[in-house]
Amino acid sequence: MELVFATNNTFKFQEILEITGGNINLISLSDLGFNGSLPEDYHSLQANATQKAFFIYKKYGINCFSDDTGLEIEALNNEPGAFSARYAGGQSNFEKNILKVLRKLKGKMNRRARFRTVIALVETGNLTLFEGEISGVITEDPRGNSGFGYDPIFQPDGYEKTFAEMEPAEKNRISHRRIAVENLVKYLNDSGSYYIMS
Ligand code: IMP
Repeated sequence: MELVFATNNTFKFQEILEITGGNINLISLSDLGFNGSLPEDYHSLQANATQKAFFIYKKYGINCFSDDTGLEIEALNNEPGAFSARYAGGQSNFEKNILKVLRKLKGKMNRRARFRTVIALVETGNLTLFEGEISGVITEDPRGNSGFGYDPIFQPDGYEKTFAEMEPAEKNRISHRRIAVENLVKYLNDSGSYYIMS
């Protein structure tokens, strides 16, 4: 039995494949033939993750999960949060979003931040939520070329490197998404789901 990971973000899909190590029978939106964009109309990670998962579940009638992730910066009242993808406005991209964060933090002593992921799983119309988070600091300048999004400016606690300076496997061992996915996989294992491959 297949489980859809409802995301258009190929980086995220790749990370989840690596994290789950081929143990879940996962398929992508393009495997389903869906190339449109997913709705994200809310102001919270939980509401957006839920909206995306139900959108695909209702359209295709297939069990699926979606993740919504945000960077929450203490000194910016937890901005950009649920607006992480579109922080710099309509023409947002990873680089512009990073520049906006660095500009808003200029001169601020408190650079503490966390990444938070919420996963919404919809199985036969029932919703279950999972979370993962990791704390760290926003660096003064971007460093590293690996990963995506805000990875070049996020340095997790206990590390000298930003996520973008780590090998993908190192980030995927400790990341917010890793923790949320582990909670999901534990739930699927405990409930004897058919998606788990032996
Ligand atoms: P969404 O969950 O697809 O809405 O992601 C929102 C935005 O958060 C993305 O466009 C990225 O900029 C950022 N983001 C999500 N996950 C990560 C991550 O693991 N590292 C760095 N940035 C991320």
